[in-house]
Amino acid sequence: MKTKELDPQNLGLKEDWAGNSIAFECPVCGKVFIVSKQLHGERHCPACGKSRGMVTGGRESGGNASIIWEDTPVFFVGHKYTRKAISKILGGSEVEYLPTENKRVVCGCFTLDHNPEAPNIIIPGTGKVIQREAKQFCEQDYPVPIFIKRRTNEWEYVGHYKAMRFSTHPADIAAHHKGSITPLSEVTRVIFLQPATAT
Ligand SMILES: [Zn+2]
Repeated sequence: MKTKELDPQNLGLKEDWAGNSIAFECPVCGKVFIVSKQLHGERHCPACGKSRGMVTGGRESGGNASIIWEDTPVFFVGHKYTRKAISKILGGSEVEYLPTENKRVVCGCFTLDHNPEAPNIIIPGTGKVIQREAKQFCEQDYPVPIFIKRRTNEWEYVGHYKAMRFSTHPADIAAHHKGSITPLSEVTRVIFLQPATAT
């Protein structure tokens, strides 16, 4: 991980800071994005998810702003990881399908038994934690690493994806059940995922 503090007196050509909001170019993918203290406090790059900006206050009033990013790839497409390794790197539990840390979903770990159309479409079932994590994932606007279970303790990284939209309509749920081992009556929503636009 690398960190860059924004210098309020000496902003770079691709940095801006007005009031409690900063804008800058993602060091990983080049996407320009805004981070506002009021709206986000901290925000991940909406295009790649591999950098994040933080701002604590105003440019003129002693606020701090910084950018943190991955300087080397953490996961490699096609490589397999254990849940223990994934959890150690990203945080979150080793058993949930959308592990969360500090109220954010840090990755997706899907089995094709439950989600036959993963990673493009997932169909969360019923349960307090399951539904809370599904809701949180749909509210996040940036990609997270996605893993598909291939064998016991072998979770293949297939790229970063974000939730693009979701539906709770019974017809949509039925259309995407596709023989999942989650009973149709227990599926609570269909989430449509989109791969990161930049890697
Ligand atoms: Zn980015």
